[in-house]
Amino acid sequence: MKVEIVDWQAVASWHWDLKDDSITDELCGICRVAFDGTCPNCKYPGNECPLILGAGCQHNFHLHCILQWLEQDTSKGLCPMCRQVFEFRKDFNTVTKDINSLLMLIDGHKSMRDREVDEEFDSFDDDLRMND
Ligand SMILES: [Zn+2]
Ligand SMILES: [Zn+2]
Ligand SMILES: [Zn+2]
Repeated sequence: MKVEIVDWQAVASWHWDLKDDSITDELCGICRVAFDGTCPNCKYPGNECPLILGAGCQHNFHLHCILQWLEQDTSKGLCPMCRQVFEFRKDFNTVTKDINSLLMLIDGHKSMRDREVDEEFDSFDDDLRMND
C-alpha cells in the first residue's frame, strides 16, 4: 500500500483546560525538555534544531531527538510514543542537512518494512506449496 500525502489541512490544536496536560504537550516526547528549550544535543535553540510535528500522529519531537531514534534499526521508523509509522509535517522554511537525513531515514525504514512484508508473503507461498 502506498499512501501519498497531497495536501495538509491545518487542524486547530485543542487542549484540555487543565494546566498540567497542556504543559505535557509542549515537551519533546523523547528528551522531555520543553520545545522552547533545546534538545540535549544543542547548546542554543534555533533553526538547526526545529520542532518536528508528527503528521500521522500527534507527537512532537526535537529534530535531533527523533533523528537519533530513527537512526536505530529497532525503531522500524515508528513513533516512539505510539508506535505508528512516523511521518512529519514538512512545512519548513529552510530544509537543513538534518531534515534531509530525517527524510532519508524515514524512507529507508519504509522500504525496509516493504521488504519485510514481501518476505512474509514469500514464505507464506512456500508453505502453501509444501501442503500441496
Ligand atoms: Zn527532544
Ligand atoms: Zn538539537
Ligand atoms: Zn506518535
